[in-house]
Amino acid sequence: MAVDFLKLAVPGVRSLSPYQPGKPIDELARELGLNEKDIVKLASNENPLGPGPKALAAIELAMEEITLYPDGAGFELKKALCEKLGVRTEQITLGNGSSDILDFIMRVFVNDGDNIVVSQHAFAIYGLLARMQGADCIQVSAINFGHDLNGMAAAINDKTRVVFITNPNNPTGTWITKQELVAFLDKVPEQVLVLLDEAYFEFVHEADYPDGIRLLDSYPNLVVARTFSKAYGLAALRVGYGVSSPELADLLNRVRPPFNVNSLALSAAAAALNDDEYTASSIAVNDAGMKQLTSAFAELGLSYIPSVGNFIAFKVPDGVVALDVYKKLLTKGVIVRPVANYEMPEYLRVSIGTEAQNAVFINALKAVLV
Ligand SMILES: *Cc1c(COP(=O)(O)O)cnc(C)c1O
Repeated sequence: MAVDFLKLAVPGVRSLSPYQPGKPIDELARELGLNEKDIVKLASNENPLGPGPKALAAIELAMEEITLYPDGAGFELKKALCEKLGVRTEQITLGNGSSDILDFIMRVFVNDGDNIVVSQHAFAIYGLLARMQGADCIQVSAINFGHDLNGMAAAINDKTRVVFITNPNNPTGTWITKQELVAFLDKVPEQVLVLLDEAYFEFVHEADYPDGIRLLDSYPNLVVARTFSKAYGLAALRVGYGVSSPELADLLNRVRPPFNVNSLALSAAAAALNDDEYTASSIAVNDAGMKQLTSAFAELGLSYIPSVGNFIAFKVPDGVVALDVYKKLLTKGVIVRPVANYEMPEYLRVSIGTEAQNAVFINALKAVLV
């Protein structure tokens, strides 16, 4: 008799469906019979400038040693992070993308029958990881698409192990002020962890936007996660990090797979961290692109959620189906991101591209909406 492997899977895994990433460029190129360079992908919040020159040079050097295992301790990258962030080596956990850090915190602290607290419209990975542990995901309704921090604090119960705060949030682009964050952290019981996901930290200019790392001394239950996938332009290399108290970092490092960050990623990330020119131009391109897109939305009479990230969610006109707009944009070689699975069925999320990419998107959108 054939074995039903689904029945053998651990309970949390049985009900999971895989994370849905943005549509890859080569897949659409194949479907449309187009050249990959004719496709504009604004679907995964990647850096439209491509990798920076210092990161590329570091990768070339590191290539010479790819027969060797990477430095499992990530000494050079941690050193660069310590200098940049003013933290100690013992506070850092390196991840294969910051998604790894989210996974580690779940595996260390979340048991079968526990729960995590997230906001409505939060990053899908949190709930996925929680269910994998057999834990519940308590979702608190958003207010104006942003986190209801009072509601989230009130939702914490004796089974809650971790609360996830995304600042700014993806896919809404909404953000939390320092005052709001501190007031929230003051309410969280000290045995409940707070994972502050700052994947888009580098893009935010607002004066009262908090730097989570500066709050670690006051809140020993806080873990800050950041990534090299967005502003630093290294999404394919998979490298991110967590910063926390040394006690928490020690625990997170216990579940970290050996050599979880490869040597090209380690070298490129350390170099990218110090390529201020590239980072500044990435942010400048984002600022200009954000203006370009919001002006176009205004001109088209489309409403959007003001965003401080490198992406923006806009609403399709009444009577128009967002998924249809997405599909028609695909036929014009433009990939954006449907966000119906984020409980935003009337919205599409578009990443900020170069001026030329944004123009292609805007023209395609105009053509699709007439
Ligand atoms: C992109 C993103 C991440 C980072 O993903 P990586 O694994 O570092 O590539 C984390 N959180 C949010 C909310 C994101 O949008």
